[in-house]
Amino acid sequence: MNTDNLKTALITGASRGIGCAAAEVFAGAGYSLILTCHSSTEELNALADDLVSRYGIPCRAVRADAGDSRETAEMFSDITSLDVLVNNAGISHIGLLSQMTDEQWRRIMAVNLDSCFYTCRAAIPLMLKKHSGKIINVSSVWGTQGASMETAYSASKGGVNAFTKALAKELAPSNIQVNAVAFGLIDTSMNGCLSREELEALREEIPSDRLGTVQEAARLILQIAQAPEYMTGQIITMDGGWY
Ligand code: NAD
Repeated sequence: MNTDNLKTALITGASRGIGCAAAEVFAGAGYSLILTCHSSTEELNALADDLVSRYGIPCRAVRADAGDSRETAEMFSDITSLDVLVNNAGISHIGLLSQMTDEQWRRIMAVNLDSCFYTCRAAIPLMLKKHSGKIINVSSVWGTQGASMETAYSASKGGVNAFTKALAKELAPSNIQVNAVAFGLIDTSMNGCLSREELEALREEIPSDRLGTVQEAARLILQIAQAPEYMTGQIITMDGGWY
């Protein structure tokens, strides 16, 4: 395969869950990939090797803490071309707000929201050079609905939504589209802290009567990356009819 003309997509937090599934669908669609993770380097390297051998695409695995400005800048230092940025890396924290420490609050904000600032700041000049680009931020229904015991997480995703809408307006004249996808309950290890009973109670609230799959989430992210250029500034919800 001639890989010179492939579009390049960077997906943060791709070692497992939604990011890993997104890497697979973007590889299948013939993108050149840059995948990141914080600490699961073995898994990420194995995924990159697997995608290279199965799809014949270039794929680089990079360890970088999405919540760290310096590490993100370093990661971008040798990226010369970028068409799609998927800000997927995220963490959750379940607990009473009154018992949350400053460090826990700052870490949620850093990984879920500051990360979007760090990557977008570095990606925009690359996209301006091409006069095109797609930025997709992974958000949550909690960003608009709010979840009890997940105030920091909800606030961070509400921030991602506002960030998306504001940046979309700033970049629309430059033909760069910025959208977010707000997922409901997707079956990943992020929900591993919920008991079987808690998951069951949530499932009963969801009209589709099940959790979403990572493949469904990944397909939507790819569809947004390939959507018409007139679609920008949107928070697209996929939650089985929950909200
Ligand atoms: P997950 O825990 O399965 O995967 C998270 C990924 O992010 C992993 O690859 C992890 O290595 C990476 N990551 C975590 N901290 C990082 C950091 N500091 N720097 C770089 N990478 C880091 O979770 P998931 O469910 O796949 O979540 C992916 C995104 O989807 C998150 O932004 C999450 O908030 C969002 N989301 C998930 C759900 C859900 O129900 N699973 C619902 C709504 C939104």
